[in-house]
Amino acid sequence: MAQFAKPRGTADILPDQVLEWRAIEDEARRLFATYHYREIRTPIFEHTEVFQRGVGDTTDIVQKEMYTFMDRGDRSLTLRPEGTAGVVRAYVEEKQYGNTNTQKYFYFGPMFRYEKPQAGRFRQFYQYGVEVMGSNDPRVDAEVIGLADHFLRQMGIESFELHLNSVGCPICRASHKQQLIKHLEPVRDQLCKDCQSRFGKNTLRILDCKIDHNHPVVASAPAITDALCADCAHQFNEVKAYLDLMGISYQIDKTMVRGLDYYTQTAFEFVEGSIGAVSTILGGGRYNGLIEMLGGPDLPGIGFAGGVERLLLARSAQGVTKQEPDQIDVLVVAMGDQAIKTSVQILHELRKSGISADADYSAHSLKAQFKLADRLHARYVVLLGEDEVSAHQVSVRNLDTREQELMEQANLVDYLHVRLTNLS
Ligand SMILES: [Zn+2]
Ligand SMILES: [Zn+2]
Repeated sequence: MAQFAKPRGTADILPDQVLEWRAIEDEARRLFATYHYREIRTPIFEHTEVFQRGVGDTTDIVQKEMYTFMDRGDRSLTLRPEGTAGVVRAYVEEKQYGNTNTQKYFYFGPMFRYEKPQAGRFRQFYQYGVEVMGSNDPRVDAEVIGLADHFLRQMGIESFELHLNSVGCPICRASHKQQLIKHLEPVRDQLCKDCQSRFGKNTLRILDCKIDHNHPVVASAPAITDALCADCAHQFNEVKAYLDLMGISYQIDKTMVRGLDYYTQTAFEFVEGSIGAVSTILGGGRYNGLIEMLGGPDLPGIGFAGGVERLLLARSAQGVTKQEPDQIDVLVVAMGDQAIKTSVQILHELRKSGISADADYSAHSLKAQFKLADRLHARYVVLLGEDEVSAHQVSVRNLDTREQELMEQANLVDYLHVRLTNLS
C-alpha cells in the first residue's frame, strides 16, 4: 500500500517533543494568569472577510498566504493566518465590551499560512498571544510589553532586544504621509515592485521594506515618530516612562512601522539573533481602529503574538531545551499464563490509585521485561511468577537499591504509595 507524507510545511510533534511544547504552554498559561489574562478559544476558520478587513487587504498575508476555500454551502472561509482578527470578531459579536471596560485575553493555537517553508517557519504553525481591549491607558501598553518581556525571560530567552516605536494615529499619519510621498516621489521608479504598487496607498510600509530599506533616500525619509500629534507624543512618552519605572530596557526603532490605518501608536518587537539571522521573536502593538473596522464600537485595543516554533529554535540555540525522559513509576513483570492474567488486575489497581504503571506488551522473557524497566527509569518492578500468584503474593524490587520484598498482593498498593510519595 502507498505510504503518505505529511503536507509540505507541516510537522508531526512526537511524544518526546510534546513534553517541551507542554512545558511552554503550561508556563505561558501560568504567567498570563498571573497578569490576569484569561484564555479565549475562537474557531480555526472564519469568514474570509474577517481577515481581509482584520489583517488588511493590502498585506502579503491576505494577498498571497491565506488558505481560503469555498465550503459546501458556497461560503468563502479561511483558515486563520493569525490570532487577533478572530479574537476581535468574537469580542464584537459576543458583545464582550458590554461586560466591563477592559477585557484581557490570551490564546494559544495553530495558524495557517501558505509560505515557503524554512527553519522555524511552517504552513501550520502555532502562536501564543494576548489582546487587551477597551483601554487606551499607556499603563496597559507598558503591562503588555512587560508581560512579553517576562514571558521570554521565563522561557529561558535572555539575549533579546526590545525595539519600540510609535506609529501615530490617522491624524498625525495623514500629514506624515504627505511628507513621505514628497520625499520618495523622485526615486519611486527605483523601488521594488511591491513598493511601487504600495506607493500612495500604503506608503509607510516602504520604510519597512526588506529590499528597499537600505536605499539612501528611503533611509533618510522622515520618521512618523518625529511627526506625532500632541496626543500621540504624550502617549508615547507615558509608555516610555512606565517602562523605565518597570526597569525594562528598550531602544527606539523609528523604522518599525505597521502600515495599516488601524494600527496606532505603540508598536514593539522583541528581536533575537541566537539562530543566525536576527529576527523578530515576538511582536505587537496598538490597533485602536480595528474593533470598529470589524463592526464594533470605536474602542481601542493592543496585543502581541509570537510563534512557538521560533521560540523552540531560540531555546535550543540558547541551550535551554528541556528533554524529559520517558518515565514511569512501576513496571509489572509477569512470567507464566496465570501470572500474566493477575498482572492485568494489578496494573489496573495501581493505576486507579494514581501510580503510573505499565507492562511490556512486546517481550516475554524476564530479561527483556527488566530491560524495559531500566529504559523507562521505573522506580519499582512488581514481579509475578507462578509461585507468587498461587500464594496471592508479589515480589517488589526497588531498582535503585536492588532490594526485593515479598508481600501479600492486597498490601501492594499501600506499600508503593507510601514509598513513591516519599520519593517525590
Ligand atoms: Zn496622532
Ligand atoms: Zn520595497
